[in-house]
Amino acid sequence: MYNFKVKSRIHDYEVQFIGKVGKILKEELRKGDFIIVDNKVKTLYFETLEETLKTHSYIGIDATEDQKSYQGIIPIIQYLIDNGFRKNHRLFAIGGGITQDITAFISSIMYRGVRWVFFPTTLLSQGDSCIGSKTSINFGEFKNQVGGFYPPQKIFIYPDFIDTLPESELKSGIGEMLHYFIVAGKNDFNMFKSLYQQAYTDKEVLAKIISRSLEIKKSYIEIDEFDKKERQVFNYGHSFGHAVESLTHYRVPHGIAVSYGMDMANYISVKMGFIPQQTRDEIREVTENIWSGFEIDKIDLEAFKKALSKDKKNVGKKLGLILNKGYGKIFKNMMEADESFSNWLEEYFTNELK
Ligand code: NAD
Repeated sequence: MYNFKVKSRIHDYEVQFIGKVGKILKEELRKGDFIIVDNKVKTLYFETLEETLKTHSYIGIDATEDQKSYQGIIPIIQYLIDNGFRKNHRLFAIGGGITQDITAFISSIMYRGVRWVFFPTTLLSQGDSCIGSKTSINFGEFKNQVGGFYPPQKIFIYPDFIDTLPESELKSGIGEMLHYFIVAGKNDFNMFKSLYQQAYTDKEVLAKIISRSLEIKKSYIEIDEFDKKERQVFNYGHSFGHAVESLTHYRVPHGIAVSYGMDMANYISVKMGFIPQQTRDEIREVTENIWSGFEIDKIDLEAFKKALSKDKKNVGKKLGLILNKGYGKIFKNMMEADESFSNWLEEYFTNELK
């Protein structure tokens, strides 16, 4: 694992891999800084965090998608304002992607912007979300509708946080990282496919996948941080995946929903003649393995299309779907949700969700 810097139009930031979390927190925290910590992490790592939580104000949050909403963040902002948090103070986030999105979003709007520092505790947040500056929160029943771009000052990755993750969250992280390896090309996909099952039990292999995932992501976000063009390919699996998450009421963890989303994107890509069935099958061998244990029942077509219609990449009535023309050739396709598209989805929901 190597430390690196990410170039950002807002401000550059550093990613550092660390071996001791309590020590780094002690060194980094200053008077007046506040901590936003995932309650589960606080309980699991109480001994490690105890000293820090005694000396600094903290807010414990439940990492749920409901919490990641306007209503959910109101008490947090209220607490900060009531307890002397100032513009020169910083927020420290300790948790996964939900804690990150909440802290980043609040940091971006409080006092027109305060600095924040991130300690990612899930595989998904260590191998993906910690870099890239996105800050969305949910609105109503739909995912990530409100937000912006606002990176932390520093990211400290403590790989041992992964030790306490349940299998579902490990699979979610593996599912989320997979899309980078398909975007990067056939060699990367083959590498991922040969290693990912070992990564569940072998930390060195997992470290290799995390490092490569971040490396691929960094190479795109430094060119297109604000998701206007090149970076959009990383939404591969996400338009469909977000719809799966919403319709399953978040029973399916994010990265597992993205695995379903990639298979749906590939299914449509086969139907449109962009990839041969063989490519879809090769990827499905991996995605099926990732979602096993999280099977979903038949999805209602109209509800699914409504959820898809909320995607940020849509323009007017056209869906901005990220489809597959082969490894390393993921692309955005603007298309109508016409009769053929609806029929393909219906076919998928009837025959492919097993
Ligand atoms: P999460 O924050 O939803 O946490 C998942 C579960 O793991 C929670 O129950 C949490 O309490 C628990 N947990 C966290 N750390 C733990 C640990 N070390 N040991 C045991 N349990 C632990 O997890 P996530 O998968 O990291 O994040 C998903 C969220 O991230 C979604 O809302 C998604 O939209 C968002 N996301 C954001 C970006 C971005 O760029 N901002 C990118 C991808 C995903």
